[in-house]
Amino acid sequence: MKAVAVFPGSQQVKIIEQEVPRLFEPDQVLMRMLDVGICGTDKEICSFEYGTPPAGDDHLVIGHESLAEIVQAGPAVARFQAGDLVVPSVRRPCPHRGCLACRSGHQDYCYTGDFRERGIKEAHGYMTEYVVDRERYLNLVPPDLREIAVLAEPLTIAEKALAQIFWMMQHRPPWLDPQAPHQERGRGLSALVLGIGPVGLLGAMTLATAGFTTYVYSRELPPSPRIDLVTAIGATYVSSQTVTFPDLAAQMGNIDLVYEAVGHSHFALQALQVLGTNGIFVLTGVPGLQAFVEADPARLMRDMVLKNQVLLGTVNAGPDAFASALRDLDAFRRRWPEVVRTLIAGRNPPEQAPDLILGRPTGIKSVIAFDAPA
Ligand SMILES: [Zn+2]
Ligand SMILES: [Zn+2]
Repeated sequence: MKAVAVFPGSQQVKIIEQEVPRLFEPDQVLMRMLDVGICGTDKEICSFEYGTPPAGDDHLVIGHESLAEIVQAGPAVARFQAGDLVVPSVRRPCPHRGCLACRSGHQDYCYTGDFRERGIKEAHGYMTEYVVDRERYLNLVPPDLREIAVLAEPLTIAEKALAQIFWMMQHRPPWLDPQAPHQERGRGLSALVLGIGPVGLLGAMTLATAGFTTYVYSRELPPSPRIDLVTAIGATYVSSQTVTFPDLAAQMGNIDLVYEAVGHSHFALQALQVLGTNGIFVLTGVPGLQAFVEADPARLMRDMVLKNQVLLGTVNAGPDAFASALRDLDAFRRRWPEVVRTLIAGRNPPEQAPDLILGRPTGIKSVIAFDAPA
């Protein structure tokens, strides 16, 4: 079977042939991979900036955003059977007995850093025809979500953040009623999304679905299908090329939430300076090497203390976030059917993966499908 692999030693990205894997533990399943999404992390791995092959291997099979169909379930598998659709999670626990996070199934909060991540760090990924994994790392997908469930993994970033935000909002202003329906939790609050890539757009859709008055701020100028998407979900797009941060803040009023999805340190720092009273600032982007920026930490500290601000970093994600992502994908599909049709730019055969990963992104999310016409 084919797989898309990166060879860091010889700096190559290519299609390889390998054996179809077999079950060797009773709680494992064999999956046929249907869709594998491409994201900025794959680009970094294929540029040899990031990513580590499994110990003893010279290559890493990439791909971490996926949708699969179960082909065979081991005898101890209770939740799945052949034909079920699943989205596998990415991170696998570290081996250390003392890691409270990994030992309780919360490896997204691993203390030691010795976790593995499929398609990223020391474990092969999903950009191949068949994959074996343990039942506990899989999330069941309703058949109605076949066309879009490959977006569940990137959506978990927003879902994990929002779960923490709602928890905080129950314990600090605006003292959210824990019984409030999901779509009303952000009512009366303003959210600013930084960035208009897939993580930013999925974040904006999640925040709009939760009732926030949502703004998206990025460099892009119209015309752009991404800006059209922002408008179509009822959010407001503002370009940083025409409106400054202070003017944006004047337009928005108290900025209750900033959801950073760019990984650009200077941009994030400017946004932190306009965060409102009792505001929460969520960082999801991982910056690469960037120019050194000057800051006024005394002013930032002063604001953070006097305005009760929270700065939260978050990396995806645990089973609850996957369940919320699948629930919200269904909500997106019902609420914005036209928008949802445009989220996946196209399904492409694996031979096109290197060009799609390393080229300029087209559309919102490019997907590799092993049964796509070549
Ligand atoms: Zn990704
Ligand atoms: Zn751990």
